Amino acid sequence: MSDEQAVLEPVEASPTPEAPWWKLDLKSTIKRPFGKFSRIMLAVASPFIVLGLFNVKPLWEFGWRTHIFCLNNLRPVRAASGKFHPGGAWIKSKRIVVYGMPGVGDAKVAAAYEGMRSIVDEVGLDIHVERVTATPAMQASLAAATDHKQGKSSFNFRKFIARRMDDRGSRHAEMVVVNMDFTDPSWAWGLAYFPPGIAALREEVTDARLAKHEGAHLLGYDKHDDLPFFVFGYEEAPIPWERSTLMMILPNNRNTLSPRAHAALVSFWRGKERDGCTYFK
Ligand SMILES: [Zn+2]
Repeated sequence: MSDEQAVLEPVEASPTPEAPWWKLDLKSTIKRPFGKFSRIMLAVASPFIVLGLFNVKPLWEFGWRTHIFCLNNLRPVRAASGKFHPGGAWIKSKRIVVYGMPGVGDAKVAAAYEGMRSIVDEVGLDIHVERVTATPAMQASLAAATDHKQGKSSFNFRKFIARRMDDRGSRHAEMVVVNMDFTDPSWAWGLAYFPPGIAALREEVTDARLAKHEGAHLLGYDKHDDLPFFVFGYEEAPIPWERSTLMMILPNNRNTLSPRAHAALVSFWRGKERDGCTYFK
């Protein structure tokens, strides 16, 4: 018999009598919820957690100018071939093309163009928005990104990005109208991602307002005016779901951007100018 077993034996032989709950020594029974390392990490992270919930206008703008609030925008994009493209490299082209896939109504493409052009103008960017017809390569990308499941076709945004990066690299950004539901998430009206410079809209629900919303995502605003809950310095309801600007577009007939989304985009693109290019008119 080893020493260890010899020590354990008496404990097993005499189980602790059950004490009533009011006599339990809480301090010794409940362990500290976090270890030392976790507590240090929490202390370091807490200012950022607070910033994530509440913010002030100058910090908000600083965070966007330095890209701290949109690190996602710097992520490289993987093409179908496996090649990685730097995130957001398309901005050097200063060009966004808008088109519909074959079968998409002309009026829908016109609305998409209108929304995209309007947000570029509102932010004041020197970016050329142009309507084009879908090239064979664009159509081939759509075919490659179409999922077929249970007799239903859906548009796979990820696959489309991967294909387009191989096809056009960072030569321009694009907004495409497709006449299919999305694979993921299936309820999406539109999807947009800054790093590859791609926005896709579902034809059925496309209008200038939706195009402007996705256009803001395409230009780098990856939020919905939901977090931080409150940014001091902008007039808005403190609770996100009480906000008229929750989807970042004000409910007026000009579809104006919400002040915080506008400031974020202007700051973000000012930050981009550190690369020596000018992006404002
Ligand atoms: Zn959105």
